[in-house]
Amino acid sequence: MRRVIIDGHNDLVLRTWRGESALHLDLTAASAADFAGGFFALYVPSPAHPDPTEIPYAVPLPPRIPHAEAARIAGELLATLCALPVHRARSTADFAPGRVTAIVHLEGAEAIAEDLSNLEDWYDQGLRSLGITWSRPNQFAEGVPFAFPSSSDTGGGLTRAGRDLVRACNRLGILVDLSHLNWAGFWDVAGLSVAPLVATHSNAHALCAASRNLTDEQLRAVRDSGGVVGVNFAVTFLRADGLEDPGTPLTEIVRHVDHYVAQMGIDHVAFGSDFDGAVVPSALGGVAGLPKLVEALSAAGYDDDGIAKITHRNWLRVLDATWR
Ligand code: ZN
Repeated sequence: MRRVIIDGHNDLVLRTWRGESALHLDLTAASAADFAGGFFALYVPSPAHPDPTEIPYAVPLPPRIPHAEAARIAGELLATLCALPVHRARSTADFAPGRVTAIVHLEGAEAIAEDLSNLEDWYDQGLRSLGITWSRPNQFAEGVPFAFPSSSDTGGGLTRAGRDLVRACNRLGILVDLSHLNWAGFWDVAGLSVAPLVATHSNAHALCAASRNLTDEQLRAVRDSGGVVGVNFAVTFLRADGLEDPGTPLTEIVRHVDHYVAQMGIDHVAFGSDFDGAVVPSALGGVAGLPKLVEALSAAGYDDDGIAKITHRNWLRVLDATWR
């Protein structure tokens, strides 16, 4: 059976910009796997830190990246995305079987000027989604450090410019992504935004106590707003022990889907793979393994209607409610 799979997060653009080939998101394999696209992150990289190999871990927040430098690199990342064989999304009608449609997503808003003077220019160039922070501080908010076990309550919330950014995104119809924000930032956005709340690639803190994951209280806020959370396939955010073990079975992804359905209902659950940005279960491998994940959901009792909501309908509903 053909499906339509829309995904909340991948880092293919960064790998391509670095001259690296895809680890997970081989675009030539996308169509056969029913992958119709989703959020393509433009992420201005911080200096690499070694992946934590021991539990507990607590990686300090990396230093800020100055706006001018971030704007230059983000421009190169956008050009890299534009050179990929993908269609850029301007409305949900752009998603169609047999092609890959990319939502231009800034993961960390350093490239946006503090006075927001270039935000509309970015919109005109196709920007339709923005994570206020990656896991570092910037002119708008702070971001959550990578730590396990840890809550996300690690620092301050939105700055004045950050609050202005949320209002401007609401006005323009740019999705505001809560993944990588800390606790205070999450609740500041929840209190301000008039759009459905979205975390594009975050898992359940009740099942894996990583700082990046969301508590049940946060999940209920997403549900009450009509929003959606993309389940992240990164093994360190899936497993109860937080270990980076590629032998993690697909049932660990299903476990987070089940928890989300129990906490929020099936209308608020989607995929947020983190392909090409994280270690995912080797049983999945990459985009070609998506049908195996859908089979695992089916085996766990999800019917075709529920699977369609998780694979694409929930994303399309939220994008339609957010975009202008
Ligand atoms: Zn991320």
